[in-house]
Amino acid sequence: MTSLQHITVLGATGSIGLSTLDVVARHPDRYTVFALTAYSRLAELEQLCHRFRPHFAVVATEADARFLFKKLQAENIPTKVLFGESGLIEVASHDDVDAVMAAIVGAAGLSPTLAAVRAGKKVLLANKEALVMSGSLFMQAVRTHGAQLLPIDSEHNAIFQCLPPGYAEGLAAVGVRRILLTASGGPFRETPVAQLSSVTPEQACAHPNWSMGRKISVDSATMMNKGLELIEACWLFNASPDQVEVVIHPQSVIHSLVDYVDGSVLAQLGNPDMRTPIAHALAWPERMESGVSPLDLFTVARLDFQAPDEVRFPCLRLARQAAEAGGTAPALLNAANEVAVEAFLGGRARFDEIPAIIGHVLACEAVVEVENLDMVMQADCRSRELAKAWLNRYGR
Ligand code: NAD
Ligand code: MG
Repeated sequence: MTSLQHITVLGATGSIGLSTLDVVARHPDRYTVFALTAYSRLAELEQLCHRFRPHFAVVATEADARFLFKKLQAENIPTKVLFGESGLIEVASHDDVDAVMAAIVGAAGLSPTLAAVRAGKKVLLANKEALVMSGSLFMQAVRTHGAQLLPIDSEHNAIFQCLPPGYAEGLAAVGVRRILLTASGGPFRETPVAQLSSVTPEQACAHPNWSMGRKISVDSATMMNKGLELIEACWLFNASPDQVEVVIHPQSVIHSLVDYVDGSVLAQLGNPDMRTPIAHALAWPERMESGVSPLDLFTVARLDFQAPDEVRFPCLRLARQAAEAGGTAPALLNAANEVAVEAFLGGRARFDEIPAIIGHVLACEAVVEVENLDMVMQADCRSRELAKAWLNRYGR
């Protein structure tokens, strides 16, 4: 077994961050926590510092940093406290770090995740938005800096487990016909379409199979999550959008499949618990206990599949269009979605207005080829402006 690995957890107080720490705590002989970051919930971060004694904690603002530092000092915890984007970048790329769990939600995770990639770290990618926004630049940086990119998204982790070595050269070259990306269909899979205009944030966040942060929960309810995952899969596995088919599988037991030209279809199964992909990626290429209970097929009893309905889920269609358009389209899609989801959660937009806002932004803004990160950030900014203008005009 390898020596003790020093881990930075970006987004430590979130759903993925806490699951990561749960797995890490089961293996003190393999992992030690180097840094923890959080944007809010300082009391929770303080408790995590107490428990894991990281070298660094990173918070949003200087005032938060002072506040947390005083608290930790009073408890004789020697954690140094940094703040802001520069603090995140420092702990993501620090020489003493072996692996970085990228589990900040949304575009805010891009710069620290890229910093980890550029420092050649083992990067465990949960923050799909970072890859969606900057796909070609991100993957180029992985190759240039020799980073090891391991997918945490359960579907992508499943696909990674089912693919043969050498897939990066192209799926056809390794006998793969297509990737089958599974989706639960979220809480509104069977809700009458006419009722989708009046669903509440609480209903949207009540996912039938997974317990997750609020943003990804809403993305799952609109199926934008699957749209972002389609784009994510194209980048991670060197696939074209037409090589990735979305399959609704309400039980969330099969986490995705790979279809080979000889008719073989390989799937990865397990209970819906993110500690499985987290433990897989942390230990890869070894295997270790994650705390997840064994899959009981007799309890599962049946596995169902359905084709997705793009009338019910227009976000899936918009994401596929953005994947096919390439260039800045995924960055525009992602940023408009972030603004729209926040507005929905804040009561300023209806659920069915989320795709309307994204569609409006994509119709307004021309897509250009991405040559550098500035162009990605400009697309992100412009998209947010357009989405906010829509909200000022039509929102509540
Ligand atoms: P979450 O909302 O539970 O946690 C987000 C974390 O990011 C928190 O620690 C928060 O403090 C931090 N954060 C939020 N805004 C920030 C900002 N502006 N700057 C710095 N830090 C910030 O989210 P989550 O469900 O854990 O998801 C995290 C990421 O993992 C997302 O990209 C999501 O799509 C992806 N993901 C999550 C799951 C899941 O089961 N939760 C599954 C697959 C992928
Ligand atoms: Mg997923």
